[in-house]
Amino acid sequence: MTEMLTETLAGIVGANHVTTDPDVLDGRCVDHTGRYRGRASALVRPGTDAEVAAVLRACRDAGAYVTVQGGRTSLVAGTVPENDDILLSTERLTEVGSVDTVERRIRVGAGTTLAVVQRAAAAAGLVFGVDLAARESATVGGMASTNAGGLRTVRYGNMGEQVLGLDIALPDGSVIHRHSRVRQDNTGYDLAALFVGAEGTLGVITGLDLRLHPAPTHRVTAICGFAGLDALVDAGRTFRDLDGIAALELIDARASALTAEHLGVAAPVDGAWQLLIELAGDTDQTERLAHALDGVEICGEPAVGVDAAAQLRLWQVRESVAEVLGLFGPPLKFDVSLPLSAIRGFATEATGVIAGHAPDAIPVLFGHIGEGNLHLNVLRCSVDAEAGLYAAMMTLIAEHGGNVSSEHGVGSRKRDYVAMSRSEADIAAMRTVKAAFDPSGYLNPAVLFRRSQP
Ligand SMILES: Cc1cc2nc3c(=O)[nH]c(=O)nc-3n(C[C@H](O)[C@H](O)[C@H](O)COP(=O)(O)OP(=O)(O)OC[C@H]3O[C@@H](n4cnc5c(N)ncnc54)[C@H](O)[C@@H]3O)c2cc1C
Repeated sequence: MTEMLTETLAGIVGANHVTTDPDVLDGRCVDHTGRYRGRASALVRPGTDAEVAAVLRACRDAGAYVTVQGGRTSLVAGTVPENDDILLSTERLTEVGSVDTVERRIRVGAGTTLAVVQRAAAAAGLVFGVDLAARESATVGGMASTNAGGLRTVRYGNMGEQVLGLDIALPDGSVIHRHSRVRQDNTGYDLAALFVGAEGTLGVITGLDLRLHPAPTHRVTAICGFAGLDALVDAGRTFRDLDGIAALELIDARASALTAEHLGVAAPVDGAWQLLIELAGDTDQTERLAHALDGVEICGEPAVGVDAAAQLRLWQVRESVAEVLGLFGPPLKFDVSLPLSAIRGFATEATGVIAGHAPDAIPVLFGHIGEGNLHLNVLRCSVDAEAGLYAAMMTLIAEHGGNVSSEHGVGSRKRDYVAMSRSEADIAAMRTVKAAFDPSGYLNPAVLFRRSQP
């Protein structure tokens, strides 16, 4: 079957863009952390939306499963194939249109990386509203599919808020172009919104119209140290609603100690917990920051950056965390949003749960505190300890009013836990939508839903 199908696929995209080379497939079957691995039978790289649609139709007709791959930075193993799938990569869908500075928007191919969009916006004196540490690899198609958040969500919202229009190749091989030149358009279902956060289960996004924002002229960045999480959370509660807030990031001092030791990036403040705060606007924000910090229980003096070089140094403390975690082997990751009032209790109990299941593991917490979004990383957690710890941690998250996925999506890692955040009727409705678009369930079969056993 594969041989005939790869010939058909080569006829659609050109022989250079289809491969069954085991070494290539091996490299594409592992997730970003290196923890989860799958199996694929071919990789296909279409160059246009018509080619994506034709590839989908051919795979469906041949009874093959398809896994969609963008930048493969998913932290929930969303691109790991489980059924000898055809891997459909968006890496050739990288056309970048010119920035419309009047309407503040840009049209790009789904395989365009976040960094390319950011640079195009900056060159036009504008900013793109979503930023995350994987910016050089993550694609805007993948980010829309997971409704990614990140370092600027507290100011601009998630990826969904940046999407003005989409091109989508559907599982039946048809293509939808949902673009509007006007700001208000209530003609029928908001179909484009359905594909944001669908994690590639309903169709393949091939192109996007993205919103851009005016660039603030003034910016001030600070890192403050805190003795306890309660005081940090209180500060987070104050700052998240402050006019001009541009970033609000929790950093575990254990993570900063690791970045200081291994990467030479030192955290400039005392305390067990650190909070990176950034304000931005059209006037100098320094006084406003000082005023807002009055009465906040911080340890010693904050480290403040008023110029670009100092701000970059402070940001390195936050951005180095993801890099240093990998030095301890593939980390086990939890991405969760909690009510702010539950964060300290959760953090304390999570440490106990981890010690109970994996005594040698090191828990490290960081995240986007404005949204109560925590990334709990467990370093040195053996594969044997993983299953028990994962289940226990999800139970603890539920007990503290948290959700299954805050911003990374469900992927294949969390599909057994969807019922923790969604009712039976809700899941049934989602399955109805999936079945309407993809009756045979061949597109991204490992993602979001556990397939019913034959
Ligand atoms: C260092 C690091 C930091 C990160 N920080 C954040 C963060 O702050 N906030 C955050 O939200 N996330 C973060 N992430 C994870 C985040 O999910 C991804 O970075 C990004 O959203 C996915 O983009 P991608 O192109 O890599 O998609 P992939 O990983 O390739 O795919 C993600 C999912 O979308 C599907 N998919 C991909 N492209 C398409 C498409 N064109 N059409 C339909 N489906 C598609 C895939 O099948 C998969 O299910 C981080 C990841 C890393 C490694």
